[in-house]
Amino acid sequence: MARIGFLGLGNMGLPMAKNLLHAGHSIVGFDVVPAAQEAAAAAGLSVVAAPADVFTDVDAVVTMLPAGEHVRTVYTGDKGLLAGAAAGTLFIDCSTIDVATSRDVHAEAASRGHAMIDAPVSGGVAGAEAGTLTFMVGGEDTAFERAKPLLEIMGRSIVHAGGGGNGQAAKICNNMILGISMIAVSESFALGQKLGLDPKVLFDISSAASGSCWAMLNHNPVPGIVETSAANRDYRPGFAAAMMHKDLKLSQTAASQAGAATPLGAEATALYTLFVNAGNGGLDYSAIFKMIQGSQDQ
Ligand code: NAD
Repeated sequence: MARIGFLGLGNMGLPMAKNLLHAGHSIVGFDVVPAAQEAAAAAGLSVVAAPADVFTDVDAVVTMLPAGEHVRTVYTGDKGLLAGAAAGTLFIDCSTIDVATSRDVHAEAASRGHAMIDAPVSGGVAGAEAGTLTFMVGGEDTAFERAKPLLEIMGRSIVHAGGGGNGQAAKICNNMILGISMIAVSESFALGQKLGLDPKVLFDISSAASGSCWAMLNHNPVPGIVETSAANRDYRPGFAAAMMHKDLKLSQTAASQAGAATPLGAEATALYTLFVNAGNGGLDYSAIFKMIQGSQDQ
């Protein structure tokens, strides 16, 4: 059994760390927020007072942090993880961050003789608690093979997407499809209603026809159509609109840096910016249907 450092014990990090603990690993955790430290200690984790204790005498370090700037500071700062850990330590960054920062951190990890993967997730807090996350992984084959047994405890689907940063690339490309397709589904169902179509009839037709897509089948934004959809519980997330907004903005940063034209991605980002800025970030991302339908003030 391994000794694992875990940084970032928030909504996602804490249940992921608990799953590693329950699988028999020894976990040393750290978070900057006292409430998160207390919740982690109450869950049975060994919580340390300083980040340096997280990378001392450990086999691997997992990070689950809010954004790229946190990852860059925590990893590459003078007293950061990469400078302080023993050479050969395995780093697993599960945060969702921009591709460029992820690739910079990978390069520094390699230059210091560490193994590293980026392993952003989908599946949300429910998936983190149940150990059913999907991990999209970037990094060298050897680092992937070392990390896989740990990822298999926290997740159900583990996909190696290529070299460093490719996990982040896969996640934002997938979520750009999801954001655009949720808007397309919302526009079509709002138009159908205005044309006098029963949404259930439109669903029965489109779900078996060429307009079918994952967002329509699984997260249908119209209440009363798909049983598991957030629309049936007042759009409580699920996958929060603020998270979709974050991922769409990351896709646009990456598109601009890579010189890729993503006009629909840009439009989806603008629509989610309107929606989130109107105070809806805590709703499920499918609630954008209400704005598109015109039933909600902006
Ligand atoms: P969160 O804000 O609940 O947790 C992040 C934690 O990191 C916080 O407890 C914060 O105090 C801690 N932190 C910040 N800086 C730190 C530092 N320097 N050292 C140690 N701890 C530090 O966020 P979350 O919902 O757990 O999301 C974490 C990551 O997972 C994000 O990148 C997010 O985009 C991604 N993600 C979240 C979800 C979701 O449904 N919540 C789903 C998929 C991916």
